[in-house]
Amino acid sequence: MHKKLTTYTKKLFGDLHSAIISITVLALLSGSGIVYHFYKNLWLSLIDTIQSPTPLWATIVLVSLLGVYVYIRTSRFHSLSNTSKPKYYKYCPDCDAGISAKKPENYCQCGTKYLEKCPSCSKKIIRDSGCVCSFCGHVFEMSSIPVD
Ligand SMILES: [Zn+2]
Ligand SMILES: [Zn+2]
Repeated sequence: MHKKLTTYTKKLFGDLHSAIISITVLALLSGSGIVYHFYKNLWLSLIDTIQSPTPLWATIVLVSLLGVYVYIRTSRFHSLSNTSKPKYYKYCPDCDAGISAKKPENYCQCGTKYLEKCPSCSKKIIRDSGCVCSFCGHVFEMSSIPVD
């Protein structure tokens, strides 16, 4: 009798144990089901947003792209106007090449003195190639170089 009771108790606790396990498993399953539903709803609303006729996301993406584009354009423009493109040049007609007027060199690598302004109209040189004055059309030649 006593032995039978012990067996019964063991069986009961065993059942209880498995019951607790199955309840836990069920709870976990329903929990993950809730999580799954949550992500499914999130995904569905994402798809809804993408497929909506006037897509808000497209507007957001376009506006941010436009902002990035404008930012890049302005920063490139600034760097161009500040550093890489000088306003005035010292020009060597021999080499058809110029350097920024702000540079300290007065003589070209070939030994020719740089022109800083047009010998004809005395305007500052604003281009570093082409061998011709941008204002009066005077053609820069070796003969036009002033002699010290
Ligand atoms: Zn030169
Ligand atoms: Zn000129």
